[in-house]
Amino acid sequence: MSTLHPGYFTDGLDADPALAAAIRGELHRQNAGIELIASENIVSRLVLEAQGSVLTNKTVEGLPYGRYYGGAEFADAIEALAVERARAVFGCAFANVQPHSGSNANAGVFLGLLKLGDTILAMDTAAGGHISHGHPATLTGRDYTIVRYGVNRDSERIDLDAVRELALRHRPRIIVAGGSAYPRAIDFAGLRAVADAVDALLMVDMAHFAGLVATGLHPHPFPHAHVVTTTTYKSLRGARGGMVLWNDESLSGRINGGIFPGVQGSVMLHAVAGKAACLGEALRPEFRAYNAAVVENARALAETLAAAGLRIVSGGTDTGLMLVDLSSRGVTGDVAAKALEAAGLAVNKNMIPFDPRPPEAPSGLRLSANAGTARGFGADAFRAIGGWIDRVVRAPGDDATLAAVRAEVEALTARHPIYGPPAAGISRP
Ligand SMILES: *Cc1c(COP(=O)(O)O)cnc(C)c1O
Repeated sequence: MSTLHPGYFTDGLDADPALAAAIRGELHRQNAGIELIASENIVSRLVLEAQGSVLTNKTVEGLPYGRYYGGAEFADAIEALAVERARAVFGCAFANVQPHSGSNANAGVFLGLLKLGDTILAMDTAAGGHISHGHPATLTGRDYTIVRYGVNRDSERIDLDAVRELALRHRPRIIVAGGSAYPRAIDFAGLRAVADAVDALLMVDMAHFAGLVATGLHPHPFPHAHVVTTTTYKSLRGARGGMVLWNDESLSGRINGGIFPGVQGSVMLHAVAGKAACLGEALRPEFRAYNAAVVENARALAETLAAAGLRIVSGGTDTGLMLVDLSSRGVTGDVAAKALEAAGLAVNKNMIPFDPRPPEAPSGLRLSANAGTARGFGADAFRAIGGWIDRVVRAPGDDATLAAVRAEVEALTARHPIYGPPAAGISRP
């Protein structure tokens, strides 16, 4: 017991009512609504507890069994477990589980493998690429020469010939594949052939489809990629943070050094434990069943929307993520997203390829089946969700429609509560 601060080791969140109320509100929001934002998921109680554990107290720097501070016995065991499981899940020789985020994983790889001013060939954000792949507003955009590839106007898919042409013209040191709004499987072998032709490295950022890769439901970036990065909280359904994976030992020093001390300091050990937990789950047969359901549910949603007359960019999805073109309805993504949120459906506005509209009021929405599937929704539920989206998008300004859809959303979510009572994250021992 701390005499300086009675209750220090025993009082929970209720000791801070303002904070407790906000966290309870967030739990209620997650519980009552339907999460369709592709960068989100719902973690297991196990992951939640690992991240909220005493590991937050421990500071370590460096790699397991080579730390700069003492007392790292259990820290080493935890990080080694996460690394071991990452290697097992993705069938690769090396893993760094320390990146605090997906952006840090990418920045660390670039810092480790590139020199200032080197050229990166990456997907344009306007075509679905991620900002951490060299957007001018980021450090990566400032420190490297960025060349961008897009998608073919008709197929709305990556055009390998166009990528090859850019690679031959600009001779990048690294080619980046994988984006935040690209719904289709990527031809990793084809991109590797392009990389080989110009002596570049191929980096695959699989943040949005790592779970599918882990379970064999999406082509594997290895052996084609020299280095693979991912977030661990999207399709991997785990801790907040990122990861780097590779096979060639000669890259190890540069990649590890690019992460620490390159772009980060000490390890977020609680997040590393959360990564160990979700990677342990990813090795279980339940995770494959979950991902198979993600694919099935995403197709059910996409087909329902298409049948209602909403165009699905590229005609479908291979990744559980889809882009919906709203332009035939005369509604913009920002207006639709606001109306859907009022109806209990969380989505994000998104540019579509060759979008004539600005990013603040784009033509599309991005949807994903990840979180809804995690709470047990099946294909029927996703067909119902598609119907609700259609209704809201037809009448985004009609309060009666929004209220009616909201009631149906709440009836569905009430049948699939998350964490269950008492409220997780704010429960007492
Ligand atoms: C989400 C995402 C990231 C960035 O992750 P943060 O954790 O937000 O830094 C990087 N790459 C891709 C492809 C992503 O989708």
